[in-house]
Amino acid sequence: MTATEEHITGVLQPRSWVQIRHRASASGMGVRSTHTHREAAYIASVLFAAKSDAWDPNDAPGIREAITAYNGKVAPCHALASDTKIILEGPLSSQHDLSLAIDDHTWTAHLATANEFQRLRLTAESGPFAGAWLNSVPSTVLQTAFTSQEWTTQCRWWLGEPVFPEAFPCPACGQDNDVHGYHALTCAKWGDRIAKHNSLCKEAARVAQTVFLNPQAERNVGPAGTNNRDADVLLRVWEHGLPLAMDFAVTHTQQPSNCTHAGMRPAGSWATEYARLHKSAGRDRCAATNTPFAAMVVEVFGVWSPEAYSFLHKLAGFVARFKGVETHVAAKHLFSRMSSILQRCNVRAILGRSSPQQAAEEEPLFAEQWSCRVDDVVVDDGEESRPAP
Ligand SMILES: [Zn+2]
Repeated sequence: MTATEEHITGVLQPRSWVQIRHRASASGMGVRSTHTHREAAYIASVLFAAKSDAWDPNDAPGIREAITAYNGKVAPCHALASDTKIILEGPLSSQHDLSLAIDDHTWTAHLATANEFQRLRLTAESGPFAGAWLNSVPSTVLQTAFTSQEWTTQCRWWLGEPVFPEAFPCPACGQDNDVHGYHALTCAKWGDRIAKHNSLCKEAARVAQTVFLNPQAERNVGPAGTNNRDADVLLRVWEHGLPLAMDFAVTHTQQPSNCTHAGMRPAGSWATEYARLHKSAGRDRCAATNTPFAAMVVEVFGVWSPEAYSFLHKLAGFVARFKGVETHVAAKHLFSRMSSILQRCNVRAILGRSSPQQAAEEEPLFAEQWSCRVDDVVVDDGEESRPAP
């Protein structure tokens, strides 16, 4: 704990320690407590060994006490029978399953005791692949390697800890820059929001280009006479021979108006709500020209709307077939990179407000490989770029 606190810089609140011990897929950092899971490990070991070696698990020392202690850590529906003889019939509960029940119960209890802002954050962070930045391989070439300062700040922000010692006027706009980084990520000045939007667009386009989906940037695909550029990225060939217009956006989960629904809507709901409120006009214009449309909305904590998630998973499927790997492997890599890009953009916006001079001197994120426009790497419409089947 001391080492972790030193690395994250500063004392962590007890609720942060609870969160750190959740799974990475449930807002945590995967630092499981051996003390919490010791009974699950012992029970699973006894059951497995007893069945394998044909001895009576009821004779194992302390097994009853272990079951009683375990039952105090899980929901009643997952409790093991503690007052009857253990019978080794049917499939045995693995340690993974037993520990998962503890994790689920801990997570539910944590969410129930959190305030509204924390519930909004925790729910979003538990969405599919939201915590993928924690599992991405640090690579300076792929620019998924956080600097020490970025990592420290990112971890504190992820846990809901203060990222500034005190509030101060935002150097970009003069408004109050709160200690939890909400303003830093919603500030309209200095271009941090558009840089984040563009970085996600470019990464999606880059991946699409690697599988010859012919991405083009900022295309108008509406009816003649309109010029709305509804496609941040237009894929010339998608499903059923049709193109796909992708419109990206990043929304903040913890907007005050969302608080009344905190914890009552599933992860990704606010991204979906944003798409409904702000992307329907673009969707209608694309429909008028029979162009499929995907609102690619992600919340700052990394959870995508179901629509965007579905598209990215399909894109990962293209990559998987092209590279000859399993789709879940390609999806893991794709989401990890998108997650790392999003979070590094977030943390740079935060750090930029505490050290404007340092921020001004830093190289733009992801500038090197994305210095050309997407159009620069797109072949002419008439050329055949897709490999022969
Ligand atoms: Zn500002």
